Amino acid sequence: MRDHFEVRRGDAAGRIGRLSVPRAGVTVETPALMPVVNPNIRTIPPRELESEFGAEILITNSYIVHSTDDLRERAVEEGLHDLLGFDGAIVTDSGSFQLAEYGEIDVTTREILDFQHEIGSDVGTPIDIPTPPDVGRERAERELEQTEAALRDAEAADTGEMLVNAPVQGSTYPDLREAAAGRADATDLDVFPVGAVVPLMNSYRYAEMIDVVAAAKRGLGRDAPVHLFGAGHPMMFAVAVAAGCDLFDSAAYAIYARDDRYLTVRGTEHLEDLEYFPCSCAVCAAHDPEELRGYDDEERERLLAEHNLHVSFAEIRRVKQAIRSGNLLELVESRARSHPAMLDGYRALLDHADQLEREDPISKGSFFYLSEESARRPEVRRHHERVTRLDPEGEVLLTEGGIPSGDAYDAAWRVVPPFGPFPRALSETYPLTAEVPERSDRHAQEAAAEGVRELVEANPGTEFVLAHDDWPASALARVPDRVAIETLGGGR
Ligand SMILES: [Zn+2]
Repeated sequence: MRDHFEVRRGDAAGRIGRLSVPRAGVTVETPALMPVVNPNIRTIPPRELESEFGAEILITNSYIVHSTDDLRERAVEEGLHDLLGFDGAIVTDSGSFQLAEYGEIDVTTREILDFQHEIGSDVGTPIDIPTPPDVGRERAERELEQTEAALRDAEAADTGEMLVNAPVQGSTYPDLREAAAGRADATDLDVFPVGAVVPLMNSYRYAEMIDVVAAAKRGLGRDAPVHLFGAGHPMMFAVAVAAGCDLFDSAAYAIYARDDRYLTVRGTEHLEDLEYFPCSCAVCAAHDPEELRGYDDEERERLLAEHNLHVSFAEIRRVKQAIRSGNLLELVESRARSHPAMLDGYRALLDHADQLEREDPISKGSFFYLSEESARRPEVRRHHERVTRLDPEGEVLLTEGGIPSGDAYDAAWRVVPPFGPFPRALSETYPLTAEVPERSDRHAQEAAAEGVRELVEANPGTEFVLAHDDWPASALARVPDRVAIETLGGGR
């Protein structure tokens, strides 16, 4: 049991949690965004990240500090918090990125963890191997062994109150990710970054990113805080949180600003293409794009970085409120409409609906049916599972229409796509209080037919009549043959 992470509220596999960081003496509410601070280039001073943006936690690279003489001396002397001017929690990366980029670095896991501890890091990181996507299986396995050796070294190190990351690697092999996550979870390490997903994000492979996260989550306990390492674009926060990620880091706010890229929750814009700012942050309220284009490089970069950070923190708050309100998947649906690759990410998330269902709360806000994907949500899956435990007797009418006159049936249940049949007494329970469109679609009707099938197969001694409102053949084909079919009048 990891007592430094407490899950407070959930929605799908997303959660609002509290990560206690004992060395910093702070508790960070998750989902949280950690701005990346390059100790050499401070686009926005860390003090301002705290005061202006509400950052409770940031991440910096201990390897850069270690390999830069004057930084190293100052960090050892003053400590990292004074060096950066930040009172919140500081996570330090280890140089794994540099190792992957340049092939070698001159420290070991033990040395860099000792160094991180010495300079006052609150969450340290061993030297894992960020294996990129699509490599051969042999390489993925070999590098995973090296990562796991680093985790063993980290476990053996005396790191005091400093929390320690246990990165989960395994490239694009879900079974390797899951097994790696299971072994990481069995260590006494504290935070679980899912590594090497940046290449997937940069090439808009959101579906595979979600598959990687889902695999890692299968290996991790519920009490394991999960960091989606390198994920800083606000457009994917909602779907990644819904998959179970708790921590994000953003280098994107500064890197994108450097080449005039403007982040939005719907994607990335180039400053040169903008006539208007679709944002009301302090920067966008006080300037228009043309003005900003007229500024010198340094000023423009700083203002764009500020906007990028504002929009990122705002999205984290929106995601947290959505968890509170129980409509995180509705937010994911709307984000999925901003880019086809995001839609792939959402569809991949729904491929794991059974996995989400295990963590999804039984009751939350109102279910909104917003697209054909809504028919695949975990709540629909759960309802279908639930109807198999109901045992109506005699002759039962399942109808999309009203209650029939007379007593021709022993019971008359409602049928609402995408859920399918349920007794009227359950009408006021979640998710059957759903708001669904007047104009149903094939996907909802097919899902409802699945619900009919589950109910009928679980009750072989009961007779069923289904009165449907113009369902297509693809839906009716799912209804068992022994169900008598009636068509309601007034079909469209
Ligand atoms: Zn803005």
